[in-house]
Amino acid sequence: MSDIQMVDLKGQYSKIQQEVDTSILNAVKSGAFINGPQVSEFAVELQNYLSVKHVIPCANGTDALQISLMALGLTPGDEVITPSFTYIATVEVMALLGLVPKFIEVNPETFNIDVSQLKTLISPKTKAIVPVHLYGQCAHMEEILKIATIYNLHVIEDTAQAIGADYTFSNGTTKKAGTIGTIGCTSFFPSKNLGCYGDGGAIFTNDSELAKKLKMCANHGQSIKYHHDIIGVNSRLDTLQAAVLKVKLPHLDEYTSARNKAADYYTKSLSSVKGIITPKTATNSTHAFHQYTLKLDGIDQAGLRKYLTSKGIPTNIYYPIPVHLQKGYSYLGYKRGDLPLTEYLCQNTISLPIHTEMNNDIQDTICCAIKDYIKN
Ligand SMILES: *Cc1c(COP(=O)(O)O)cnc(C)c1O
Repeated sequence: MSDIQMVDLKGQYSKIQQEVDTSILNAVKSGAFINGPQVSEFAVELQNYLSVKHVIPCANGTDALQISLMALGLTPGDEVITPSFTYIATVEVMALLGLVPKFIEVNPETFNIDVSQLKTLISPKTKAIVPVHLYGQCAHMEEILKIATIYNLHVIEDTAQAIGADYTFSNGTTKKAGTIGTIGCTSFFPSKNLGCYGDGGAIFTNDSELAKKLKMCANHGQSIKYHHDIIGVNSRLDTLQAAVLKVKLPHLDEYTSARNKAADYYTKSLSSVKGIITPKTATNSTHAFHQYTLKLDGIDQAGLRKYLTSKGIPTNIYYPIPVHLQKGYSYLGYKRGDLPLTEYLCQNTISLPIHTEMNNDIQDTICCAIKDYIKN
């Protein structure tokens, strides 16, 4: 059997190779390497897919988050509520802008922010909430929006892991992840659900005034060339990456289905294994299964990982150290024990290989190895 991988980018490419090669070659031949027509074409195609008014492409998901905070006019000392159980990028951009992250616990079932704690973290300095749709399913947006409206807070969705997921409100309205709050941010990092072949990102909003500001922020603070009305950054989606994304976007739903199929197969095989808790899907969100993450109940995370590695099975821990305990963020004053559930999850979860090219044989090998480890 071929090597088992966390993500099979080569296998996925081989199925769309001709289309991708043609699209890249056309971009190269056109010579329009910066802001070629593919960039705005892709933005419109993604707008249509998401049913959102504006898509502003940028250089990566981290920039998308930073540009959003800048465009909303947040200033040093402003507080932003966000989980500590996330990738560093979510919080890093706040730190860079002098904003103060206020960490919120997560719901142990969905790994997304525990909305019941939101109000306790709101102060007169709070300006925004940044929910992260971790592993591929949406946070409880209805409740987040309700509270944000009462306290007049911006909501920036970090949807780097959940592009394509659908969120349904209690009145039956369905919206795509990233189009629910004030702004949505995503990443096209190669291993993301809609990945390009390098770095890429995008910002979504339905607010046309804000869209103008976001565009300016991403383009050196200008809307007219050489007129820099605000301080911005240089963050562009590369033309070659847009050429790849244009080909891959029409496949996104089929990729999401493939991930769901793989997830279902894992769950069937592992749900009755003692000590393994398979992922729960939220009742109001579909799951894009960017990660398939097990909770371990009494099973040694490091031991299991080591055993699987010895059998040629890669795994990952997302994330081994929560943001509030990272050295670079110690200045925020958090200590071990401040977010016990987040800290517990970092030590008691494990993510299995999941991608669009998964097959039952690979998954049987992985599940058997997990069961063998637990038996011994
Ligand atoms: C990947 C990711 C990012 C950052 O995206 P980049 O394109 O790598 O900058 C931000 N937030 C989350 C939750 C992510 O998974």
